[in-house]
Amino acid sequence: MSINGAVDLRSFKQKVRYKKTSFRRFLNTLVKRSPQKIKTLIHSAEQDVWKEVNCLSCANCCKTMTPTYTATDIKRIAAHFKISTDEFKKKWLRKERGPNGDWINKSTPCQFLDKKTNYCSIYAIRPKDCSGYPHLRKNLKDYIHVHKQNIECCPAAYTMVEKMKEKVESLELRVQSRILPLTTYK
Ligand code: SF4
Ligand code: SF4
Repeated sequence: MSINGAVDLRSFKQKVRYKKTSFRRFLNTLVKRSPQKIKTLIHSAEQDVWKEVNCLSCANCCKTMTPTYTATDIKRIAAHFKISTDEFKKKWLRKERGPNGDWINKSTPCQFLDKKTNYCSIYAIRPKDCSGYPHLRKNLKDYIHVHKQNIECCPAAYTMVEKMKEKVESLELRVQSRILPLTTYK
């Protein structure tokens, strides 16, 4: 994404505008490949991602989105602040509409984000949703819709798809040039 992994959100948004359609198309073709080959590709691309993206220079997820809070998250974080779960909900959360609506933040940026440093002030006890984000290692077939959304707001998710695309294109080129056998990337 840039030197030392620093994220420039303005240039990121410009790149997204140009690339999002081709990235989404690529993801649609990628899920048709063998699960084992996808897994290997994800593993190798993810390592490249964290060499290029430093979340502490970004925090776009904490600034623009809300995590969902499970009952266990609420209990744990409320206990940390020595308040009841009801007080915690009243102070910071709202319930999404619908019978199965999740508990989410009332506002963005997240109240637990330190805006000066981009650190999460409750990092060790943050919601499970936050600790898993941006879900790069998850099964691609199950998370394709998530990645399609995340490439627009998360530089790590964007770079992940970019790296996978580069790797697939490079392999395909070598197959076409008969440097590698046809079965290499199906
Ligand atoms: S997970 Fe994505 S959006 Fe969140 S800080 Fe890291 S790169 Fe930025
Ligand atoms: S709880 Fe922490 S990691 Fe999760 S959105 Fe808020 S600041 Fe970010």
